[in-house]
Amino acid sequence: MPKATVRNMPVTGRSCLVRVDFNVPMKAGTITDDSRIKAALPTVEYLRHQGAKVVLMSHLGRPGGKVVEGLRLGPVAKRLAELLNCPVAYVDDCVGLKAKSLVLGMKPKDVVLLENLRFHPEEEKNDPSFAEQLASLGDFYVNDAFGTAHRSHASTVGIARLLPAYAGLLMEKELRALGTLLRNPERPFVAVLGGAKVSDKLSVLWKLLEKVDALLLGGGMANTFLLAEGFDVGKSLAEPAKVQEAKEILRKASALGKNLHLPRDVVVAPRPEVGVPVSVVSVQAIPGDLMVLDIGPETRKAFAEAISGSKTAFWNGPMGVFEVEPFRGGTMEMAALVASLGGFTVVGGGDSLSALKMSGLSNRISHLSTGGGASLEFLEGKTLPGVHCLKEQD
Ligand code: ADP
Ligand code: MG
Repeated sequence: MPKATVRNMPVTGRSCLVRVDFNVPMKAGTITDDSRIKAALPTVEYLRHQGAKVVLMSHLGRPGGKVVEGLRLGPVAKRLAELLNCPVAYVDDCVGLKAKSLVLGMKPKDVVLLENLRFHPEEEKNDPSFAEQLASLGDFYVNDAFGTAHRSHASTVGIARLLPAYAGLLMEKELRALGTLLRNPERPFVAVLGGAKVSDKLSVLWKLLEKVDALLLGGGMANTFLLAEGFDVGKSLAEPAKVQEAKEILRKASALGKNLHLPRDVVVAPRPEVGVPVSVVSVQAIPGDLMVLDIGPETRKAFAEAISGSKTAFWNGPMGVFEVEPFRGGTMEMAALVASLGGFTVVGGGDSLSALKMSGLSNRISHLSTGGGASLEFLEGKTLPGVHCLKEQD
């Protein structure tokens, strides 16, 4: 059953407390990428258009339950006001008298941004009285922060028990796109996984193997699988503790008759730095003193063949250390491959999205998933607590 959304909510003149994901990258007080603010605009604009009072709340970074000056949401309020082309009132605490009186004075279409939720340790503990204080600021609750829906926090779960709880438009879009991958993907369906967080990503592989026609593994993640196949990976990033699980995944793939593609050749160097000597070697001959930092040209060709003609693709995790120029090629080619597919394409993960942005091809992808960990847990088939507690559609 789909979740009820803001469109099912009688909001005119009412105060809507919206959990957004404004966890934007910042450098010295400046926002370096405002994609997450832009992603929340449809819900905020919809609510304003309906004459609601819009109270926004978010976390930013990991302040660990105390006030950290560099993690205030002031710069976000400023950027949001520019994007909405209307004033955004910002209050330097998310609960308490100041927040309360600001909200009480709101008129329809006004927008307020509350301070970083994680300045209070009660947020991540899902403390009931903190959730109550937040809930006292709204008549309705809206969750538009898919990226934190896999966490049971006061602003994602506690509050949903206290107010009528709806999905925002971004949340709806995420659930629809990822739901399509799980339920009825057009075939062939290919998944490409890479990146560094092997232990986070192994569990999604079990589920994806059942769903996909082909699975391609690259990036740091593939090294653990190369170990499982008996190759030496030198000084590469790898998780020897996960080799056993990787072996079992390889066995399952062949039992299911699924095509699981691993790198055949790799780009190696002593360190992921510009200027170091770089070479391409077969996975059978990775020198013991070097690191695997990208997929090689033969692998890129094999991956291109495996992907071509797919009607559905999911990509999470770069193919190499794309941040450093000599190791960017595999990831850029993957971006071009996924972007060139005519079907339904989903790319998720913070680093994958920044790699995609670098390639200039973001607008050629059907859905950019804002939630890294949350998308993976959803694809594992887990129930996300922040989604579970939202109202079902009548
Ligand atoms: P995402 O954020 O897209 O989910 P991850 O956080 O799992 O992806 O991984 C991204 C990181 O993986 C990047 O910083 C990239 O440099 C790193 N990476 C990719 N391939 C390798 C590799 N072979 N060795 C070390 N790090 C790698
Ligand atoms: Mg990442």
